[in-house]
Amino acid sequence: MSPIDKYAVYGHPIKHSQSPRIHQLFAKQTGQSIEYNAFDITRDEFTVSAKAFFSSKGGGKGLNCTLPLKEIAFAFADKTTVRAQFSKAVNTLARLPDGSILGDNTDGCGLINDLIGNQGVCLGNKKILVLGAGGAARGILSPLFEQNPSKIVIANRTVDKAIDMANEFANLGYIEGCGYDQLNNAQYDLVINATSASLSGELPPLPDTLLSESACCYDLAYSDKPTTFIRWAKEHHADKCLDGLGMLVEQAAEAFYLWRGIRPKTAPVLKLLNSEREI
Ligand code: NAP
Repeated sequence: MSPIDKYAVYGHPIKHSQSPRIHQLFAKQTGQSIEYNAFDITRDEFTVSAKAFFSSKGGGKGLNCTLPLKEIAFAFADKTTVRAQFSKAVNTLARLPDGSILGDNTDGCGLINDLIGNQGVCLGNKKILVLGAGGAARGILSPLFEQNPSKIVIANRTVDKAIDMANEFANLGYIEGCGYDQLNNAQYDLVINATSASLSGELPPLPDTLLSESACCYDLAYSDKPTTFIRWAKEHHADKCLDGLGMLVEQAAEAFYLWRGIRPKTAPVLKLLNSEREI
């Protein structure tokens, strides 16, 4: 009997990761036999541990990498997809038949599939504001530009990072970088919170006039209760207030497809996870 294919998620911390559950639900739904575990791995431990995982007897077939490992996973991969190169970060590693390791980034695609596919949000000709200029912001810019928005503004606490990122992506479309104090005069159709502020119950300083009529607010972070940003969006009458659980399930589906060549249905998994929280 051939050994069961092994997959895992590495991160630090990792205790609350939903990824093992999501991938096990996908495997059951698609009749695939896989093992998927979560491991608490720090940056210092990553390379040795990932090498051992992929070269072990019956070797690991794929890894998901989450905070704070996406940049080191990018460096670890033997080759990377174009979307990983745009993000300079990898959330999915796959062992190819020749033994080499492919690095991909499915986060941006996960966001787009959730926003457009699940939520019916149209981005064509829309004004988009991205809060934050970290790894997650970097990973979503190229997929957002593929939807032909009229412009993207990146606002960040460390203003230079927003300006540098805007310069880096300027060949993809109209983009500006700024600080939060420069957000006073414009309205946006879609505001994406790509900061990690929600994780500590904080919120970047946002003007009350930020949202256009029928604006959508999307927090990449997710929680069992509405995040600080989602509460702000509701108070400011956003038409749609969405958090990142849908993105999490969609990025996992894309990783599953890369590994197994079969695309799981995300709706039943998202419905189940949503039914277990107070949102
Ligand atoms: P990161 O690289 O560490 O970047 C963090 C960003 O948040 C930086 O721009 C930082 O600003 C900003 N920030 C942190 N605390 C802040 C505060 N109190 N006020 C204002 N800005 C603050 O993190 P990341 O990888 O980009 O992740 C960002 C978020 O996306 C996290 O919540 C993560 O869980 C989420 N995410 C979700 C998914 C999903 O599938 N749903 C996937 C990927 C990421 P400075 O540059 O000024 O420090």
